[in-house]
Amino acid sequence: MKITRIEAIPLRVANIDSTANDGAQETIIVRIHTDEGITGIGEVDASASMVKAVLEAPSSHNWSLSFQDMLVGENPLDVERLWDKMYQGTIYTGRRGLVIHAIGAVDLALWDIAGKALGRPVFELLGGPRRPHVVPYASVHPRLSSLEDTERQVQHIMESVMELKYTAVKLQLVYDNVYTDADIIRLVRKGRKIIGDQMTFMIDVGYRWMDSKAAIWTLQQLEDCNLYFVETPLRMDDLDGHARLAAAVTTRIAGAEMLASRWEALDLMDRGKVDVIQPDVGRAGGLTECLRIAKHAKDRGLLCTPHGWKSGLTVAAEIHLSAAMENVPYIEYMVPELWPSVIRRDLVRPEFTPHNGLIELPRTPGLGVELNEEVVERLAKG
Ligand SMILES: [Mg+2]
Repeated sequence: MKITRIEAIPLRVANIDSTANDGAQETIIVRIHTDEGITGIGEVDASASMVKAVLEAPSSHNWSLSFQDMLVGENPLDVERLWDKMYQGTIYTGRRGLVIHAIGAVDLALWDIAGKALGRPVFELLGGPRRPHVVPYASVHPRLSSLEDTERQVQHIMESVMELKYTAVKLQLVYDNVYTDADIIRLVRKGRKIIGDQMTFMIDVGYRWMDSKAAIWTLQQLEDCNLYFVETPLRMDDLDGHARLAAAVTTRIAGAEMLASRWEALDLMDRGKVDVIQPDVGRAGGLTECLRIAKHAKDRGLLCTPHGWKSGLTVAAEIHLSAAMENVPYIEYMVPELWPSVIRRDLVRPEFTPHNGLIELPRTPGLGVELNEEVVERLAKG
């Protein structure tokens, strides 16, 4: 089998709100065609127009090759070799950031092709199942509002999550210009009170603190809430601040949603001393790179819980990662019922719906999802 064509399809909802904290207003689907008629699909969590430019740029020299030149004619089943080829072939302009995100979408599509060609779900090709089910944590996000209204929203959202029978929930409190540290403490305590002691509870504070002391002051007061982790407490590049914070509190420190490549993840684990590494399949460099990151985490006794805020295609990728790695106990899951996004809800089928808080391992060959072509056509027009 040979790769014949790489297609990059940017999708955008009609009225983008650039002030909204919503990663699912646009996406880019990468579709890879083969001479045997099998196609694979991947997705990136980065500016769709920029990724399209990366994927369609012509070759300029041997360290700046085009994706077409590197991939067309290659055997799509050589997934890991092709990852290394794409990395080396773009090393002059790539290595990190946008090019790694783009490699990730290609990588995902290659795994999809490999699974379809071999008639097996992707997690079986990643080393086989390590768990009978995947556990999604409901990632929930109150709208920007006053403290009183946010408290009402937290009440409503937490009750909905319990009704939907999730076993884990992450509350995103990401507006650092609205809430004080005292507000954060109040909202988290309220959340824990509503869901009770049994449910796994994590928070995301969206790079809230400029320095580790402020984070330590707040998180020490929240120790009795038994948070599973606190995500992105400090500015992304403050690696030493992460290490000081991790040493000062018992709550696990988590991060990595923005990072590209295992080398950035290693910096956050080894210098930043985070307890939970959170690569996004659509940013870190695809399933191949996320698997490498999860293995590095495992060797260090750390957890890995992938970030995911795109379509059901990203959810599918997270499911295969968690299925295949024992230190990936949870995946991020934007609850379709609580998140009004057409890309999240309708872009692919089937939706892997949890039952009693658990997602069955998919049995369909490949990633196990197909594009809803009607939605693709509608959103391709922007
Ligand atoms: Mg986050």
